[in-house]
Amino acid sequence: MSVAQALREAAARLETISGTPRLDAELLLAHALGTGRDDLLMRQRDLSVPPGFAALLERRLKGEPIAYITGFRDFWTISLAVTPDVLIPRPDSETLIEAAVDHFGARAPGRILDLGTGSGALLLAALSQWPRARGLGVDLSPAALAVARGNAERLELADRADFRVADWAEGIEGPFDLILVNPPYIARDAALSGDVLHEPESALFSGRDGLDDYRRIAPMLPRLIAPGGMAAIEIGHDQGESVSALLANQGFSVSLRHDLAGHDRCLVATPVRPA
Ligand code: GLN
Repeated sequence: MSVAQALREAAARLETISGTPRLDAELLLAHALGTGRDDLLMRQRDLSVPPGFAALLERRLKGEPIAYITGFRDFWTISLAVTPDVLIPRPDSETLIEAAVDHFGARAPGRILDLGTGSGALLLAALSQWPRARGLGVDLSPAALAVARGNAERLELADRADFRVADWAEGIEGPFDLILVNPPYIARDAALSGDVLHEPESALFSGRDGLDDYRRIAPMLPRLIAPGGMAAIEIGHDQGESVSALLANQGFSVSLRHDLAGHDRCLVATPVRPA
């Protein structure tokens, strides 16, 4: 079977379980060939379908996320290794980096904190964006931090990145110019489907209304943010008002940003200057 035909057939089968069947088929076939998607598409007439492709396709048809099958996911300008110990980085979360890029403009943050770093996606994206910045990634999960450290090394950012096990910012000392936070924010009883069914629950769920971790994190932020600094905090699409209120109560000025789909996705908190 030709590569073109294999991609067509695989995409047709994947339609029942995936919103991106053609992309999934390409990523799986590229992975089976040990190459990248661009290379696969460019050279498809010269390539043949390796025997391993069928098994990868079956895994995906059972619902396993592409990123856990291939072991990688692109985020911002970098590519991250991922395992089932970490949340799969999502394009939505790039909204936080965009917010920081807009805030700092020609300046650059010197010290960066990533609370709940998981794979290290936000921290490492920021460190690659600002080549002189240093950063600290915090997570409660040692298994997640092992993934993040591996990513820092692979991306040659390890000399500027520290990682520490902690319960949010407990025991962490500031100040930081930029604080990035993508906490769990899904309500405990939410009905879910897709990739999230395979991701770590500790990275997804946060109490009855999804806000428990914001309630813990918000009071920790004022002592950690440097003057002129900011926190970018990811939120669920319907949490703008409630999380803004939690941050305003801590004396922050808060603004809202949308993701590419137009959903509320990120709150930017900046210290209100003393009058
Ligand atoms: N954005 C994720 C989702 O709903 C949730 C991740 C999180 O809780 N931080 O798919």
